[in-house]
Amino acid sequence: MPDFSQLPSVEKLAHALASEVTLPRPLITGFVKRSLVRWRERLAAGEDTERETIEKDILTTLKSFASSRLQPVINATGVLIHTNLGRSPLGQRATSALGGVATGYSNLEFNLLDGKRGQRASYLETALAVLLETEAATAVNNCAAALVLALRTLISPEKNEVIVSRGELVEIGGGFRIPEVLETSGARLVEVGATNKTHLDDYAGALTEQTALILKVHRSNFYLGGFTAEPAVPEIASLARKHGIPLVEDLGSGAVMNTDELAPIDHEPTPQEALRNGIDLVIFSGDKLLGGPQSGIIAGGSNLVSRIKAEPFFRAVRCDKLILTVLQECIDDYLHSKGGGTPDIPVLNFLSTPLESLESRAKTIVKELEKLPARVTIVETSSQTGGGTMPRSEFPSLALEIVTKGTGLDTLAAKLRSARPAVIGYLHEEKFLLNLRTVFPSQDKALISALREALQ
Ligand SMILES: *Cc1c(COP(=O)(O)O)cnc(C)c1O
Repeated sequence: MPDFSQLPSVEKLAHALASEVTLPRPLITGFVKRSLVRWRERLAAGEDTERETIEKDILTTLKSFASSRLQPVINATGVLIHTNLGRSPLGQRATSALGGVATGYSNLEFNLLDGKRGQRASYLETALAVLLETEAATAVNNCAAALVLALRTLISPEKNEVIVSRGELVEIGGGFRIPEVLETSGARLVEVGATNKTHLDDYAGALTEQTALILKVHRSNFYLGGFTAEPAVPEIASLARKHGIPLVEDLGSGAVMNTDELAPIDHEPTPQEALRNGIDLVIFSGDKLLGGPQSGIIAGGSNLVSRIKAEPFFRAVRCDKLILTVLQECIDDYLHSKGGGTPDIPVLNFLSTPLESLESRAKTIVKELEKLPARVTIVETSSQTGGGTMPRSEFPSLALEIVTKGTGLDTLAAKLRSARPAVIGYLHEEKFLLNLRTVFPSQDKALISALREALQ
């Protein structure tokens, strides 16, 4: 007979735990109840446990649950677009506009001139089209949704074949694989070429009465080198045009500016270039190198974009007013800076921060940590753009290297993660590094306090 007397009382335990975490009290009680259900099962299964063990276990899991609450962190990994850390931070300008629209009513679908129903996102769509130098554009929840939406719009039961080069059957991460996305959209994948080489004839030979479109996918997170070949986009474009089928490109990141002018990195293809080269419809993420909120942008010819907007599935993946506000500010920012200067986009600022300014901040931080039982030095390292952009692009950066006396590096890393805001660094060759390129200067003070606390 299992001994359920070891199970603590919900109320008593919840009361005791309330001083350990700052969570709503009913959530603590609910969490304790759910944990006790599992403990009851374990006891019923014959596990022999003391009450103290159960209470300790629930405290540990509750703390871990509390830390999973969405909160800001300091990204000291040096990876600019870190999907696990929320990709692109937003600029001040983009978020300052949020308050007004978020806390009040807005003209989301209301025409202020005639007082009648208005078009949702019409300003943003025109601004995007102007920025991207094309006829039309729109935005949906993310790039994956944009791709599914474009595919669903452009295929029909009679014409459902989508031609993709074998060198571009990318897996983006998080289960996003091009062949599977095509399948979900009702398309039939027609692979052409070989992994390393695809010729124009391969595309031409695959065209049938059932061909709906040719899809190009940017190899955003891997690099194909060696004995390779692929036709230039204008060649594929003229083939597609000759047969009256659209050529669509999933560009992934899609930097709108020449990011290689900001840092010594590979050139990231821009949507403007893709469209100039003959792509009919380009699709890219809003929260990678564009530096906006999570969204997927679709741009190109106005007849294709209007067909996409008329597809019923568009309604299921449309952006809400908060995203539209932030994206609108972000696109305006790019347009304002067209005359010169860089928009207020943190990832672009991080890309272009000179090493000297990282160095002077690093020196200040090192000085602040002088008296601690650890050796903190400034080391040269590199940064990556990340997030499925320019897989080969590493560029110079500076990091604080921390060698502890006593505490293990894993413990140090864990202590820094438990700071608020949490500090996320990385281990590299038995050393713990904090890369300053992705740390906002305004976070230096918090970084110093977290280090003091962790190293003391
Ligand atoms: C990142 C990426 C995606 C997915 O973008 P989300 O905005 O996360 O949906 C799709 N395609 C490519 C090529 C990418 O690099």
